[in-house]
Amino acid sequence: MNLTLEDKTCLVTGGSRGIGKAIAIRLAEFGADVAITYARSADAAEEVKKEIEGLGRKCKSIQADAVDLGRAEEVISEIVDDWGSIDVIVNNAGITKDNLILRMSEEQWDDVITTNLKSVFNYSKAAAKPMMRNRGGSIINISSVVGISGNAGQSNYSASKAGIIGFTKSYAKELASRNIRANVVAPGYILTDMTGELDEKVLQGIKDETPLGRAGNPEEVADAVTFLSSDMSSYITGEVIRVDGGMAM
Ligand code: NDP
Repeated sequence: MNLTLEDKTCLVTGGSRGIGKAIAIRLAEFGADVAITYARSADAAEEVKKEIEGLGRKCKSIQADAVDLGRAEEVISEIVDDWGSIDVIVNNAGITKDNLILRMSEEQWDDVITTNLKSVFNYSKAAAKPMMRNRGGSIINISSVVGISGNAGQSNYSASKAGIIGFTKSYAKELASRNIRANVVAPGYILTDMTGELDEKVLQGIKDETPLGRAGNPEEVADAVTFLSSDMSSYITGEVIRVDGGMAM
């Protein structure tokens, strides 16, 4: 069987930049029509849309704050109304607001938990009924190795990413009988805007802790997501795939 996403319709939250952008383009390269959401980066999202259309696929670029359940329902409805179905959701939108626990504000905690974890509930819940009607679907939630191992200075982020793993396994159990699969991809250190602000010393430390000895690139995460989106992973659900160069091994 060849890996193909022909005739599949996909949504990637936070598809304007970084890992989400690479995922959206990779899904389109394998034949899917892809909608992306973004929070603020309208121009960047428009560029991604053009790139996907250049591949001969349909694309929607939609401004939608991932924390808003009502908006998530609107986004999914728009895709189903216009394209007939929603086959794949990639919950990728995420932020960091790092601080030591003693210094962390309630706002820093709430913002990260809401953006990273509630957003996954929002889109997974909104997609459930259309996927049931469609007799199947695949949800891929982007966690992080720090959701497995924890990280000093990232208690809010680690909690959100660990929460994604528990949520995904529960969702997978609830919806398996409807042929809806749910899996997690947990990246390690990947070069994007999110990690671009780390200083050289921290960066070197991360590389030293990574058995493959280098940072990953967004396309390497996109490849794992593409596999989980496709029928080549049809018997895989509730799984966590690390894409981390062996970091959390
Ligand atoms: P970036 O900061 O490069 O991109 C984040 C994306 O999420 C942007 O498209 C952004 O939209 C979108 N976004 C942020 N907040 C919201 C919101 N409230 N509503 C809708 N969209 C939103 O991050 P990365 O590409 O590095 O990270 C992508 C995912 O991968 C995140 O979940 C992150 O936690 C995870 N991850 C990243 C790792 C890394 O090393 N980079 C490692 C492990 C996990 P806009 O452009 O409009 O701001």
